[in-house]
Amino acid sequence: MDISPDEYRRHAHRLADWIATYLRDVGDYDVLSHVKPGSIRAQLPKAPPAAAESLDDIIADLDRVVLPGATHWNHPGFLAYFANTASVPGILGEMITAALNLNGMLWRTSPVATELEQVVTDWLRQLFGMGDRWFGMITDTASISTMYVLAAARERDPALGIRQRGMAGRADLPRLRVYCSEHAHSSVDKAVMTLGMGLENVVHIACDADFRMKPEMLARAILADRAQGFRPLAAVATAGTTGMTSIDPIDDIATICQRESLWLHVDGAYGGSAMAVPEMRALFAGLDRADSLVVNPHKWLFTPMDCSVLFTRQPKVLRRAFSLVPEYLTTADGDDVLNYMDYGVQLGRRFRALKLWMVIRAFGADGIAERIRHHCQLARTFADWVRANGDGWSVCAPVPFSTVCFRHVPENETDEAEIAAHNAAIMARVNESGDIFISHTKLGDQYVLRVAIGNLRTTEATLERAWTLLREAVP
Ligand SMILES: *Cc1c(COP(=O)(O)O)cnc(C)c1O
Repeated sequence: MDISPDEYRRHAHRLADWIATYLRDVGDYDVLSHVKPGSIRAQLPKAPPAAAESLDDIIADLDRVVLPGATHWNHPGFLAYFANTASVPGILGEMITAALNLNGMLWRTSPVATELEQVVTDWLRQLFGMGDRWFGMITDTASISTMYVLAAARERDPALGIRQRGMAGRADLPRLRVYCSEHAHSSVDKAVMTLGMGLENVVHIACDADFRMKPEMLARAILADRAQGFRPLAAVATAGTTGMTSIDPIDDIATICQRESLWLHVDGAYGGSAMAVPEMRALFAGLDRADSLVVNPHKWLFTPMDCSVLFTRQPKVLRRAFSLVPEYLTTADGDDVLNYMDYGVQLGRRFRALKLWMVIRAFGADGIAERIRHHCQLARTFADWVRANGDGWSVCAPVPFSTVCFRHVPENETDEAEIAAHNAAIMARVNESGDIFISHTKLGDQYVLRVAIGNLRTTEATLERAWTLLREAVP
C-alpha cells in the first residue's frame, strides 16, 4: 500500500513550508555548490535500504545532502549560461502533474493532457504574435525538438524513403546537408549525428561582425553542395545564439530556403520568449515563413525544467516521420482527436502543459512581457556600466536581449591567450564569492565573460554586486 493521505498531508504541509522558506532565502545560499567530486556519493549508503525509512528521516536529508550539493538556479545571482526561474505557479503545476500522473500518449489516455497542450501552445503562439497556421507540441528540451524537425525535414520528400529503408548501404541516396551558422547550438550537430546523417554534413555558415549568419554565404554553400551532387535539406536560423544572443536574419534566410526548397527551422530556445514583448517582435521578421520553431519556456518563460515548445507549420510531415501505431494503441477516436504520440519518438508523455498553463495565467500576457522587458533593461544597464568604465573593460557583442558579453583587457596586453587566462581568473574569483555565478564563451578567438539575466529574483542590486566583484577581481 502507498503511504496514507493523512501522512501525505502532514508531510506536504511541511514541504510547502520548506519550499516557501527556500524561495524566500535562496539568495542567502552560495549560488555555486562547493562540494568536491564524489563527496555526495561518499555520504550515501552504497546499497538501497532493505527496510522502510520514515519520511521524516528522508526529508531531513534534503537539508543534509541535497541542498549542499545543489547549484541554486533560483538564486538571484545565477547569471551563468541562460539563467531561468522555477516560478511559484510553475512549481505548483509540477506538484499537480506528479499527483495526477497522467500519461498523455493518446487523447483517450487523458483528454485534458492533450487538449490543454493544444490550448496552451496556441496561447503561446498568440502571446508571440505569430500567425495562425502553427501546430504546437511540448517536448522535454530544444535538443529533442530540433532533432524532431530535422527528422521531419528528411521525411518531406517521400522519395528519399529513409523512414522505411534507412540510409545505410544506399548508393541512390545523396548526401543530406544541414546548414546553420558557426554560432548555432551544438544540438543541431547532435541531431544530425543522431539521425545518422553524419556530423560532416552540418555546414557551419560564416557570420558577420555582429555574429549573424551571412545569407549570401548560405546561398553560396547551397549552390556549391548542389554542384557536388549533395542534397541541401534544411537550414537552422538561430534567434538568440547561446554564446552572444545574436539573431540570424530570418527573413533573408527564409527567402533562400523558399527558393531552394529547404526546411527552415528557427532555434529560439532562449530568445524566442522575447516575442512576448510586442516591440521586440521585429527581431523575428520572416518567422512566419519558417517551417518550424523551438522556444524553451524552461529558459526565459519562468517555467521549471523541463518544458520546450516545438511549433511547426508542417504537422502532417512531422506526423509522417513519427507515426507508428501498434495494435494495442489503436482507438476508434478517428480524426476528431489528436494523439501526440504520433508526432515524436516517445510514447509516454508527461503532463507538462499544466505548469505552462498555470504560469501564463498567473502572470498574464502583459505581466510576462513586463518581466522580459525588465530583464532586457537590466542587461542594457549592466552593459552601460561596463562601457562607461574606461579601465580596460569593454562590451564585446550587441545586447539585443538580456545577456551581456564583456571582458577586461589589461593595459597594452594583446596576446589572446594571456587575455583569456586573465578573464578566466576574474571569473573564478567572482564565482568563488558565493554571491554571483557567471560563465564565459568564445567570440571567434576572443575569450569573453557572460552575464545572462533570466531569473525573476535578479535585481539591479544583484548586478551592482556582480559589477563590484568583477572590478575587485582584476589583479
Ligand atoms: C539552450 C539552447 C539549446 C538547447 O536547449 P535544451 O533544451 O537544453 O536542449 C538549443 N539552442 C539554443 C540556442 C540554446 O540556447
